[in-house]
Amino acid sequence: MAETAKILNPHKQVLLPDLEAGCSLADGCPPEEFAAFLAKYPGHKVISYINCSAATKAMSDVICTSSNAVKIVDSFPADQPIVFAPDRFLGNWVSQSLKRDLVLWPGSCEVHEMFSEKRLVELKLEHPEAVVAAHPECPAGVLQHADHIGSTTAILNFAKETPANKIIVVTEAGILHKMQNDNPDKILIPAPSTDESCSCNECPYMKLNTLEKLYLCLRDRTPEIVVDAEVAARALAPINRMLDLSR
Ligand code: SF4
Repeated sequence: MAETAKILNPHKQVLLPDLEAGCSLADGCPPEEFAAFLAKYPGHKVISYINCSAATKAMSDVICTSSNAVKIVDSFPADQPIVFAPDRFLGNWVSQSLKRDLVLWPGSCEVHEMFSEKRLVELKLEHPEAVVAAHPECPAGVLQHADHIGSTTAILNFAKETPANKIIVVTEAGILHKMQNDNPDKILIPAPSTDESCSCNECPYMKLNTLEKLYLCLRDRTPEIVVDAEVAARALAPINRMLDLSR
């Protein structure tokens, strides 16, 4: 995200409180391996989810978000073969939504892939009146139990609009604070992960950006995001293509 901000604003200073605050999706798609993967699929258009590195974006034809992934893929003719990267679960959900085959890079978000279908079903049995809202980065086995599948914004909207008073939330736990503020009278239940002993529904990368580091970053104007100019120029085109297709 920080790299995308820099690519879109090359002449502005972009700061990130902790440069280690990356993303398992981005890390799981190394540029050299991705280039070798793409070489096996000549003639394919490459659609990459925005949670990827600048180098991966630079190898893509168009970027998408979880909000517009279905629309972006559907903007290509039905007979156009497509590689979707780096999240195989999001890609699989798009593929099922459009009933369209996609070649999927085998990446995943380490937070969303940890949600347990078995424990979600147990939770649903415990709270039969609850509805389930899930992010499409979750595995298909989890998504099949959801009443609503959508991006973070879509999940927040669903929570406001649903008449249900109890919502099982299957995405990164950071969403819960805003969701509870929006819906003070509703009961929110974070979905369980496969590992009962850890807070696996909290992104360890995002949590590196603490309030203290934010303060120091603003005070000292560092650390700064730097993106290679040539990579940034190539990554800008697919980002702009997404923005055009989203209008
Ligand atoms: S939750 Fe963390 S690891 Fe998963 S996509 Fe978001 S930033 Fe990446």
